[in-house]
Amino acid sequence: MAVEIQSDSIDKKEGVNMDLMTQVDQLSTMLTQSKHTVALTGAGISTPIGIPDLSQLPESVAEMLGDERELIRDPKKFYGILHRLFLDPITKSGPTLSHRVLAALERAGKLDGIVTTNVDYLHELAGSRTVADVWGSFNTNYCLRCGRTYSISALTSQAIPTCPKDGGFLATEPLHGGPSESVPALRLALRLMQSAELVIIVGSTGFYSDLNETAKVVQINPSSTIFDDRSDLNIRAKSDDVFAQLAGQTA
Ligand SMILES: [Zn+2]
Repeated sequence: MAVEIQSDSIDKKEGVNMDLMTQVDQLSTMLTQSKHTVALTGAGISTPIGIPDLSQLPESVAEMLGDERELIRDPKKFYGILHRLFLDPITKSGPTLSHRVLAALERAGKLDGIVTTNVDYLHELAGSRTVADVWGSFNTNYCLRCGRTYSISALTSQAIPTCPKDGGFLATEPLHGGPSESVPALRLALRLMQSAELVIIVGSTGFYSDLNETAKVVQINPSSTIFDDRSDLNIRAKSDDVFAQLAGQTA
């Protein structure tokens, strides 16, 4: 089944004119030939289930979520927004097909790990084990009173997440003290990227871009990004469409 590529997605870069099936064939061959493959994922892998791109949130919402004083001042409003935008789509719609296929590739020994700028923890929920959450994730949450940490279930199971020991509000790692990079995750990301022979970029627009110079790069993204020129193969399609075909070929 060939999938037509929209004319506005065709550019001069070699490879983009091929139909999707041919491109997925090529990706599949590159996967087979690579001894060390790493996926780099960004917002585009999670937007199909309604999770917004953090970088495109309205300013007022981003400011509120980035300020813990707002959490303390109006926890109902703060967590209402966090549930609506992030936690509810995570629990109701779960990982996407792309997340699940990436987890299956790791289990099959075809993927070393994932570097992601997403904070939604969906790779781990899909079963991926080696994940560098470079901006932290919703799976680490701090009690603002005692500092104990809690997993994602403490967030998703409570309308207003609080510490069972002392009732303190829980602040989630990606928003705690404003956006910051996780040092252990960055170390893991560096290790994965240094040994990568193939990097599959999925829905990322470049907030992490530290690729090694020799790795082959396949980009899966409906839109043009800063990775276009670095990529050996640009697949201009939705990631779930690509991974559905890839899963069919490698099953
Ligand atoms: Zn506490």
